[in-house]
Order: sequence, then structure tokens, then C-alpha cells
Amino acid sequence: MKNLLLIVSGPSGVGKGTVVKKLVEKDGIELSISCTTRAPRKGEVDGKHYFFITKEKFESMIENNGFLEYDNHFDNYYGTPREFVEEKLKTADVILEIDVEGGLQVKKSYPQAILIMVAPPSRDELLKRLRGRGTESEDKILSRVKRMDYELSKEAVYDYVVINDVIDKCVERIEEIIVKEKETRHD
Ligand code: 5GP
Repeated sequence: MKNLLLIVSGPSGVGKGTVVKKLVEKDGIELSISCTTRAPRKGEVDGKHYFFITKEKFESMIENNGFLEYDNHFDNYYGTPREFVEEKLKTADVILEIDVEGGLQVKKSYPQAILIMVAPPSRDELLKRLRGRGTESEDKILSRVKRMDYELSKEAVYDYVVINDVIDKCVERIEEIIVKEKETRHD
């Protein structure tokens, strides 16, 4: 199968959401939708933002190997539904925007997946961006910095690291990766 499963990770504030959105809009790449057991927030739509499912259903899916990866955040389950992604892969490239642990879990169960880390031009630059938002306490910023350092420390296990200096350039670099990967794959 020539369609690619792309996993995009990177520290918070790096702009990966915008990059992913552009790839979806420009290149017709399908975005995966996660399952979660948390309640929908105002304005969230089932089947668009998440598939909102019960804990029982989630746990039965875990038992039936229904997730490419899953995790627990703030007492709720979140996971990437295997069948949904595999169905989409039949007709298009699929992109997952998940954290480093999730990305590595997917790679284990789906080794053809391509791990792409979106990284800031420099650690200081990202710190400036986080601080520049001006919406968070210093404590929160420090915990984000710790998390950021952890995510960036995993660069070496990713297949590609793409610097997000200028958004459109970053998108172009990912497009080049896609072309290159398609040329070299014959499965
Ligand atoms: P929120 O409840 O704010 O939408 O998301 C909470 C956290 O869950 C975020 O850190 C988000 O990245 C993570 N998350 C969302 N979907 C998935 C998923 O499919 N798998 C994993 N491992 N984490 C997810």
C-alpha cells in the first residue's frame, strides 16, 4: 500500500496544529480522529473533534486490540482507533497529531508509520513564544518547558525532524518527505 501514515509530534507552542491543518487542506491528507471517554466540551462535535465513547466501550476496544495507541490523561482515556485509520489509509494518506509516547507506540504496532517531529528553530525561541502568549503563570510555563525538553530529547528516535521557522516552509518540507517516501516504497 502506497498511502502513508504520518505521525506529527512536537512540543506545545511549536505550531504543529497549524502545520497539520495546512497539510490537510492543501494536500487532501486525512486527519485521524481520536476516541475519548471525556465529555464533549461546548461546541465539540462527535465524529469531528473526537469520537466520544463510554469507558466500557473504550475498555472493550482495548481488549480487542482496537487501538494503534492509547493513553490516560486527567482520568480519561484517549486513543487512536485502529480500524478507522486503516479504513482511511485505503484511499488516502493519514496524519496523526499525537505526543511522543503515542507516536512511538504507533510505530511499534505499525512500523511503516513515519515519525515527524516539528521542532522550534531553537529552544530559546520556543520559550519566547510560550512566554509571549502572556496567558500562563510562571509555574505552568516551567512545567511546559520541562515537557518541551523531554519531547525534544526524543528527536533521535524520530524519522525526521522538521524545523518550524516559517510555517509554509515547514509544510513544504513535510510535503517533500511525503514525495520521497512514496518514491522509495513499493509495499
Ligand atoms: P483534550 O481533553 O484537551 O482534548 O486532550 C487532552 C490530552 O489528550 C492532550 O494532551 C491531547 O494531546 C491528548 N490526546 C488527544 N487525543 C489523543 C490520542 O488519540 N492519543 C493520545 N495518546 N493522546 C491524545
